[in-house]
Amino acid sequence: MFPLSEENKHVAQLLFSSGTCPRCIFRLCGVDLHAPYRRPSKHAAWLLVKQEMGKQSLSMGRNDVVQLKEAFKWITHPLFSEELGVPIDGKSLFEVSVVFAHPETAEDCHFLGEVCPDCFKPAKNKQSVFTRMAVLKALNKIKEDNFLEQFPCPPNSPKTVCTVLGIECTHGAVFVAGRYNKYSRNLPQTPWIIDGERKMESSVEELISDHLLAVFKAESFNFSSSGREDVDVRTLGNGRPFAVELLNPHRVHFTSQEVRELQQKINKSSDKIQVRDLQLVTREAIGYMKEGEEGKTKTYSALIWTNKVIQKKDIGFLNDLKDLKIDQKTPLRVLHRRPLAVRTRAIHSMETRYLDEHHFRLYLKTQAGTYIKEFVHGDFGRTRPNIGSLMNVTADILELDVESVDVDWPPALDD
Ligand SMILES: [Zn+2]
Repeated sequence: MFPLSEENKHVAQLLFSSGTCPRCIFRLCGVDLHAPYRRPSKHAAWLLVKQEMGKQSLSMGRNDVVQLKEAFKWITHPLFSEELGVPIDGKSLFEVSVVFAHPETAEDCHFLGEVCPDCFKPAKNKQSVFTRMAVLKALNKIKEDNFLEQFPCPPNSPKTVCTVLGIECTHGAVFVAGRYNKYSRNLPQTPWIIDGERKMESSVEELISDHLLAVFKAESFNFSSSGREDVDVRTLGNGRPFAVELLNPHRVHFTSQEVRELQQKINKSSDKIQVRDLQLVTREAIGYMKEGEEGKTKTYSALIWTNKVIQKKDIGFLNDLKDLKIDQKTPLRVLHRRPLAVRTRAIHSMETRYLDEHHFRLYLKTQAGTYIKEFVHGDFGRTRPNIGSLMNVTADILELDVESVDVDWPPALDD
């Protein structure tokens, strides 16, 4: 049973005589056992209250009022569970929202608007200024005497029951991660749209996420990755880690076989990208991809042109430079979206392969976040030193590939 404290018995008596419903008596007395709220017949609940008020017992439960929302859950959760044959817990990502209206009492709180106009400021996305939080704030502020003057106490017992305005079912976001290769030199990572006009047909993001969106029957998605490559840069090797957040999915359970089939479907749909290690992950796991990104290394392969004629011996010294520190002023080409700053980056090691009098291939292992193109051509002296200044030539970069992104997440899967 549910024990009421001595002081609450008096409160319960008062509420009882004012016509308060049994469930609200439980709530207002802070009864936090669920069972009494579930009494199916009103008559039985009344009896319970009556019995309890006559009994001696010890104080138990919280001293706060039980929120109506909480009591509603305690009553309805077991009913849903029984009807649907599934367990219910408050931590599920599947949420059912029910909107109730009670016109008879809807305006009861409006007098507070004159007492405390500061508490009721119009907010976007809100239909009424009388939100729960605003009403609570005003109730905290108002003086007791003032309240009693303006509102009947005890309040009148309502004559009508509330109606359901709508029911909405939503599912919390789920996350899918993997690694992608990009084999095209004219494919941006994310949709390239300037002033509402699309500049490139597709993007890595869309080639992957469109399939996920369809299979998870989700409303929308957010794509993120460990760094990004320029539109004309390929990403080879093991690929670049990425994650897709799928919002309000309508399907969330997949076997590992089904995820493998989904990966094959993505890979068959385009020769511009390939995906591996596709898997469902938790929201928390996304953090591994982002954290410590700066400390990670990346390896690149670049095709370089020089204005002066070069011999094999002119590039050999680059192989001996270890952990070369360079200062990079924010590149001109990204200055419109990144703040102006000077960042020190490390070129851990380089390897060269001579091609002809004006070309060689440069393999670099660098700190993540290094601007490679600028390290080659110097960006009008904004990156120092650079390949041009080191070799005393004018150098330019003709092709760039990411060979590996050394982030060991998500875990590699056997295929
Ligand atoms: Zn009630």
